[in-house]
Amino acid sequence: MVLHENALAYLLRFLTGLDEEALLRTFRIGYTAEEEKFAHYDLVFIPSGFFESEHYGKPSSIPETFQEIDGIPFLYGKPLVERRGDTVLVHADLPASAFFFLSRYEEICRRDIRDKHGRFIGRESLAGRHGLLCRPLVDEYGILVRRWLRSAGKDIPEPEAKVAKLWVTHDLDAPFFCKSLRAVARETWRGKGLLYALKVFSGKIQDPYDTFSWLFHEEESRLANLSFPWQTIYFVKAGGKHPHDRPHYRLHARCVKTLLRQIASHKVLFGLHGSYSAAENGASALEKKVLETFLKYRLSVGGHKIFLFRSHYLRSREPEDFRKLEKLGITDDFTMGFADMAGFRLGTCRPVLWIDPARGVLTGLVLHPLTVMDNSLYQKEYMYLNEEKAQAYCAGLFENTRRFGGEICILWHNTTLLGNAYPGPAVPWARSFYTHILDYLANMKNPDTDSEKHPLRCPL
Ligand SMILES: [Zn+2]
Repeated sequence: MVLHENALAYLLRFLTGLDEEALLRTFRIGYTAEEEKFAHYDLVFIPSGFFESEHYGKPSSIPETFQEIDGIPFLYGKPLVERRGDTVLVHADLPASAFFFLSRYEEICRRDIRDKHGRFIGRESLAGRHGLLCRPLVDEYGILVRRWLRSAGKDIPEPEAKVAKLWVTHDLDAPFFCKSLRAVARETWRGKGLLYALKVFSGKIQDPYDTFSWLFHEEESRLANLSFPWQTIYFVKAGGKHPHDRPHYRLHARCVKTLLRQIASHKVLFGLHGSYSAAENGASALEKKVLETFLKYRLSVGGHKIFLFRSHYLRSREPEDFRKLEKLGITDDFTMGFADMAGFRLGTCRPVLWIDPARGVLTGLVLHPLTVMDNSLYQKEYMYLNEEKAQAYCAGLFENTRRFGGEICILWHNTTLLGNAYPGPAVPWARSFYTHILDYLANMKNPDTDSEKHPLRCPL
């Protein structure tokens, strides 16, 4: 496989952890084994042969374990650093190791690792098996790269440790528990019973899934003085025929339209929540069109085009599916977290342009790392943490993100924050936990001037 020139240039630049143009022009980094070219660079990575190997794209190209430099794990090359004149030569193939995580290379090699929903399994990923999902390894490579550049005489500062942005996101899977006669029939037949369904349907008790006013109140009041920018996104479904797409709500139903109007009256963005069935093909142009038309003509969110995307069930099955998203005009994907384990699926806490691992080309699609989803923490088949452990785990992910100037993206469902009226198995601490998370974010020191003294946190 040939890694295209602009993909390599992007990779090397991303590895530095720096994005100031002026600073980036003060040094040169090479990726070459040609000795006569070494003097052109301040820092040279010696290629391990990963990209040209006959094993490329096969399971045999994935090492069993990690090697380390100064406690930072990497995958390809050797843990050896030497000097040639003024140039630092690094035999650890950090570009290949970073590519492994950022492009989701592992997922094209191990197509056999998928769960019943067709998703790659976090616990079986290489980082997951070695307990490294809570560390943004690619960002840690930046510590080494900047240190080596300084040893080559370059005046490279550490980037400020600050959260660049907080994305507060909600997937609208089931806006209401029981707002239609069909839902009453469903609950009577195999749910909470006719009496409870009728009480909700008639408005005698509040619909337990209708937690939106509570969400807006808690988020807007607790994050009012946040020291970094934040944005709420609602990912809305606009189709889907699979049983896992139930309940099939219609955007034009009066209660849904009223709810979306209420949501739109706040400072939110809308994105497409690609359905379970559309994920078979990556995404659906029809769903995108339906949502855009609805927002434009029914909600009067004038000229609204959908650029933001997350797949239902985090069902991003194959890395190649990203190509379809890009073709649809999606610019930003927010699916990249493992459902079964919260952490850094992309090996980074910073948004990154996707490099297609099958073609070696840089695309225009931005992948935003999903830091944590509520269900990953709670559900029995996922992490199944108690409140205290869930708090500690999230704090670790947030602190590690701030350390490297990344983005925090949280995904909470209106249906996990059930009101007390719901007579079913809900997580009893769901609401207090969410407010704790919001308060934790609101109290984060930004920037954190002591960050280098703090070790990276991996509480589990
Ligand atoms: Zn969903």
